[in-house]
Amino acid sequence: MLAYCASDTHVQFVHLRFGSRKQAFSLYVKCLIETTMSRLMVDSPYKPCCIPSMNTTHDVIIAGASFAGITCARTLAKRGLRVCVLERKENVRHSIHTTGILVHEAYDLLKPPEYLVRKIRSVKLYSPSMKHVDVSSTDYTFYVTDTPALMEWMVAEAKKDGVEIRLNTPFEKAEQADDTIRVNDSLFCHFLIGADGARSRVAEQFGLGKNTQFLTGVEVEMSGITHRDDALYCLLDSITARGYIGWAFPTVGGITQIGIACNDKAKPEIKVMMDLAAQWFDMKDAHIVARRGGLIPVGGVVTPFMKDNVILVGDAAGMVSPLTAGGIHTALHYGAMVAEKIADHVLSHAPHPSVSLRGLYPKFGYKHVLRIIMDIGIPNAIMEMTLFSNWFKRLASFVFFSRKSGTVLR
Ligand SMILES: Cc1cc2nc3c(=O)[nH]c(=O)nc-3n(C[C@H](O)[C@H](O)[C@H](O)COP(=O)(O)OP(=O)(O)OC[C@H]3O[C@@H](n4cnc5c(N)ncnc54)[C@H](O)[C@@H]3O)c2cc1C
Repeated sequence: MLAYCASDTHVQFVHLRFGSRKQAFSLYVKCLIETTMSRLMVDSPYKPCCIPSMNTTHDVIIAGASFAGITCARTLAKRGLRVCVLERKENVRHSIHTTGILVHEAYDLLKPPEYLVRKIRSVKLYSPSMKHVDVSSTDYTFYVTDTPALMEWMVAEAKKDGVEIRLNTPFEKAEQADDTIRVNDSLFCHFLIGADGARSRVAEQFGLGKNTQFLTGVEVEMSGITHRDDALYCLLDSITARGYIGWAFPTVGGITQIGIACNDKAKPEIKVMMDLAAQWFDMKDAHIVARRGGLIPVGGVVTPFMKDNVILVGDAAGMVSPLTAGGIHTALHYGAMVAEKIADHVLSHAPHPSVSLRGLYPKFGYKHVLRIIMDIGIPNAIMEMTLFSNWFKRLASFVFFSRKSGTVLR
């Protein structure tokens, strides 16, 4: 027996091999109710889903092949959707703009191969006069990475999962007609994801919210440096690193990363940071092999972050902790979440992501208040006095090494 099931966008015949007339009739009624609800309640959770159709080249197109974009793409491809990622860079190894430190929770989501990461279990916090305290942990660790190779690995894994990746292909423009979005003239999809970073072109094209508050980070990768230990060295100085910190650490493959970030009231002087690092490491044979840098959006999630079938995620959506400026974990977490909501909608008639994502993006709460305090800057004289206090050490331990701080502080 064949039961007929109709919706705005598709017609489906269900073969009830052993079914009764009663079963067929109840299925028919269920479909009829769903269709009527779809027509009546355009903005309701019963909005009709987009069924993959012949008039699109892809179900989902994603701008940006980094943490958010690749994770979103892999999750969609694993659910059986046709996904294409557009990346403006010719090679994802190039122009890296992150330090690439993974908190444990990000490491667990990404599961990178061991040879791409190194564990960090201790942090040395330096005051402006170069006095320091050590904080460490035996049960929590975070990871420094060979970030260019990590990016390459992520792209290779995505290809294995069936994602089409177009390098050297910037997202330039898009227009929406009914439930189809035309991208760069020749591509057609149902959903467009803007995972294209802090200055999102997708956000600009669709009039979505834009990031307005940033830290600026610069970093050098150096070889030829000898280390006494494997710690992460941090500089807490509200003049040199206003609004954030300076850092240096040995990473994977004999490379040392040295960097500094500041808010818009200061300029990150990498030379000053390299001179300071010379007090920590033997740098007589050191030379720069690469440079990194970029903007870190710290103003919180943008509004609106979605419109119809266009959704921002990761830095494009402002998903970076205003306190720690870490955004890799949120990019991975919400990249996967957005993909699951789209797939549920497309494949199982679940509510549209405009409904199912409501209230789920991070709010960062009082981290915004801590950002204001950091932007003003704790005066260096006070930093010198508090660095050795027990409460400061406990706070630092909590920020760097507590699993709970993954949700509370980082
Ligand atoms: C200096 C610095 C250091 C940082 N260090 C850390 C850290 O150690 N740990 C941490 O958790 N977070 C860190 N962050 C933040 C973190 O890097 C970001 O939050 C994270 O990279 C966000 O990932 P994403 O996928 O959303 O965007 P991005 O990593 O910004 O990737 C965006 C991608 O989109 C591409 N793109 C841009 N425009 C287009 C276009 N028009 N068409 C196609 N592609 C486009 C870009 O080339 C890029 O590949 C740092 C940031 C900076 C700037």
